[in-house]
Amino acid sequence: MFELELSQLEHQQLARHLIVVDSTDGPHITVNGRSMLLMCSNDYLGLSYHSALRLAAQQSMENCGFGSGASRLVSGTSALHQELEKKIARFKGTEAALLFNSGYAANTGIIPAIASTGDVVLSDCLNHASIVDGCRLSKAEILVYRHKDLEHLETLMHTCIHARRKLIVTDGVFSMDGDIAPLPGIVSLAEKYNAIVMVDDAHSTGVLGRTGKGSVEHFGLSGRVSIQMGTLGKALGSFGAYAAGSKDLIDFLINHARSFIYSTALPSSVCAASLAAIDVLEQEPERREKLWKNRSHFLTGLNAFGINTGDSETPIVPVHVGDSGQALKLAEKLFTYGIYVTAIRPPTVPVGSARIRTTVTAAHSWEDIDLALDAFKRLRSEGYL
Ligand SMILES: *Cc1c(COP(=O)(O)O)cnc(C)c1O
Repeated sequence: MFELELSQLEHQQLARHLIVVDSTDGPHITVNGRSMLLMCSNDYLGLSYHSALRLAAQQSMENCGFGSGASRLVSGTSALHQELEKKIARFKGTEAALLFNSGYAANTGIIPAIASTGDVVLSDCLNHASIVDGCRLSKAEILVYRHKDLEHLETLMHTCIHARRKLIVTDGVFSMDGDIAPLPGIVSLAEKYNAIVMVDDAHSTGVLGRTGKGSVEHFGLSGRVSIQMGTLGKALGSFGAYAAGSKDLIDFLINHARSFIYSTALPSSVCAASLAAIDVLEQEPERREKLWKNRSHFLTGLNAFGINTGDSETPIVPVHVGDSGQALKLAEKLFTYGIYVTAIRPPTVPVGSARIRTTVTAAHSWEDIDLALDAFKRLRSEGYL
């Protein structure tokens, strides 16, 4: 039934396939029986297999069982959901927070709830697909501004000055390029034109800011960003997502965010692991230091070989290739050198901008990074890059 479309995808080098990854200790994985170095996970602090998270989840399962049995508003809210929401709010410096089942669910729930008929959403053209889909679900008018272009944002703002509500939404760290949103400029514009700012800190929480609180801490914008969305499945090594903001924002979302209302609550054990993850984040700042040291070592090495890493400012380090087939070939070649990465192709990134998206984590050793650098160096000397 779908043969033709699938063969077209294969032909265009755009087909996607699932690969089983077995991991026991973080960046050292087994794929098809082969031991490899993982260079594309978002487990930035290596928390996904931290004993504190595992223990917290196990204990909670002993006490509360596993499934939550219902949505939050029916009978699915446990003390752990509330404890985690309080902890996230404290961590983010907001009045309140609300859990979502994933970042995807958060963005497709929050945006249509906040912005509807008569409203406008202004969205960066490189925002994550879940933001794009949240915009598509919203009945608001959607205006897409050029990547990080504040002048364009302001020009578009002038066209909707009289909209009932104006929402500016941006990734804090752009997931495929690793660059950071110009949040201070966005916040100033929002204050000038009376707009609401929503930042998606999926790749910023645990990574950016002096204490890992994300992009608002990074830029010192406390109290000036209305909606801080973030995820628990990346640097926090757990699963799920949240919105943090004022008490009335959270009460509003509880009443209007459909992905929150109509979906079974996260298992308590997942909340317990997230609670433990925030503790580890606060108690082991050396993980973040190591992450940034590793990132700098890797980036310096790649750039020394003349490899184009675009505008990366974070542990997300894209190696730009352009052509999808070429990106696939590079990923395959790296696989033969024992490095596991994926070729990121359209529609995840714009046509003609395929890349190998590498990520560095705190769990990598110096030797791991050197191994990856050696592999890229070989590719370069063999003319693949
Ligand atoms: C990963 C990601 C999401 C989705 O989060 P999940 O919890 O994986 O569903 C949302 N926004 C951005 C920017 C992301 O990178």
